[in-house]
Amino acid sequence: MATARHLRIAVIGAGASGLMALIKLREAGIADVTVFEKAETLGGTWRDNRYPGLTCDVPSLAYRYSFAPNSEWTHVCAPGPEILEYLKRIAGEYDLERDIRYGCEVLKADFENGQWRIETSDGDEGAFDAVLAAAGVLHHPALPDIPGLDTFAGDTFHTARWPHGFSLEGKRVGLIGTGSTATQITGAIVDEVEKLSLFQRTAQWILPLANDPIPEEQRKAYRANPALLEEEFERLSLEQTASFAAAVVGENPRAYAALERYCREHLELVTDPDLKRRLTPDYKVGCKRLIMSGNFYKAIQKPNAELVTDGIAGIEPEGVRTADGRLHEIDVLVLATGFDAHKIMSPMIITGRGGKRLDAEWAEAQEAYLAVTIPDFPNWFMIGGPNSPVGNFSWLQTAELQFGYALKLIEMIRAGNAREIAPRHEALRAFNDAVKAKMPDTIWASGCKSWYINKDGHVASWPWTFDKFKADMSEPVLADYDIA
Ligand code: NAP
Repeated sequence: MATARHLRIAVIGAGASGLMALIKLREAGIADVTVFEKAETLGGTWRDNRYPGLTCDVPSLAYRYSFAPNSEWTHVCAPGPEILEYLKRIAGEYDLERDIRYGCEVLKADFENGQWRIETSDGDEGAFDAVLAAAGVLHHPALPDIPGLDTFAGDTFHTARWPHGFSLEGKRVGLIGTGSTATQITGAIVDEVEKLSLFQRTAQWILPLANDPIPEEQRKAYRANPALLEEEFERLSLEQTASFAAAVVGENPRAYAALERYCREHLELVTDPDLKRRLTPDYKVGCKRLIMSGNFYKAIQKPNAELVTDGIAGIEPEGVRTADGRLHEIDVLVLATGFDAHKIMSPMIITGRGGKRLDAEWAEAQEAYLAVTIPDFPNWFMIGGPNSPVGNFSWLQTAELQFGYALKLIEMIRAGNAREIAPRHEALRAFNDAVKAKMPDTIWASGCKSWYINKDGHVASWPWTFDKFKADMSEPVLADYDIA
């Protein structure tokens, strides 16, 4: 008869996903867990990003762990620091930090004798029965390759490296990029800077989402009646999955038409015809990750704001030179140029069965079965692996579902019914074929450049509905696995 094993588990990353994994492993009775975190504090993306205007762009009442409803969000879309506080509070309540090793970066992982041997910046950490890689998706800043960038005489930094306490008040600011980050920053800083020059390479569709405060009265009602909070979560989640998430994967044409209409009507707030023309994208609504903002169009029309659409020719000590020959003089240059989303788990050197290196396996394209597991890399589970749903969803919900799936396989190891679990190559191939067959139905494949597209030119997101994701995560199909 199979016997229950003591498991030693490594979690990589103390962001929202890694913290959740630690809580849920303990809850399952798996107590020998170490979370390796390369930074000195927890929080992942909500620790790294501290730019002005940082807010969640999913309604906050839908952005929470299932086990930690939060009645205290002050706004429809909570400010970033509140989300970081939420994570810290939960870490305190669950006494998580005793299992987190800060300043400890995983450098190498080798699969040897049925276990993962881990080497960190502190040295050899020994062998682990399973690894949960929760190292994040959007954390390698993408720096633009613009001639002369290093010659700029003023301050310059990427948005995810905002210097602590750095103020833009009274300064002439150049902001490169028009993604979610730059859009949030624009609305937040326009009234305090002397001049804002926003360098746009590609126009973006923007869905209006006013970030109204949640009055204390309302928060009091949520506090007093958790069922009300739950109802609100259910309503928002349903709205999100049935309309938005279904619309972008081609499963709800009516909802898609409405999205399009809202974005086009929103653009009508721009009164100057030339500015409106330059802000009008030439691709379909939702092809790039849809931006949510209630203040961007108002901000960019302020007298001290300028939308610059001539291409950037180079950076000079005094500012940004555009292709028309004009020098845009600035004091600070902010790079809202996004992230390399396809460096998942990089730069760790991960070696699976038979000496297979993950970086070599993924040289052409990053592929994982159902986004969670990889052939020849047994007992290695990813939260946020390639093809995870990365649309405008609540990441916390996605992460919990992926964790739940991984836990079912980990439980098999614990129960002694398996020592090594990895998906079959055929299962991965079939999954990838299905992804590629379905992707053309999605709006992301309709012809635009976005961070969803990986280096082999394919969209690396979940091409089906969120309901299908939930269903697929609910129970592993064991026939798709090699179980030794
Ligand atoms: P992004 O969406 O990748 O946008 C990067 C921007 O920089 C784009 O406008 C891009 O132009 C521009 N850019 C890049 N290189 C350039 C160059 N060499 N010259 C000129 N322009 C250049 O990055 P992001 O805004 O940081 O957002 C990334 C993701 O983070 C979002 O999609 C979202 O998932 C997440 N995010 C979430 C929140 C939230 O509240 N939950 C907030 C912010 C960000 P092109 O479009 O032409 O490439």
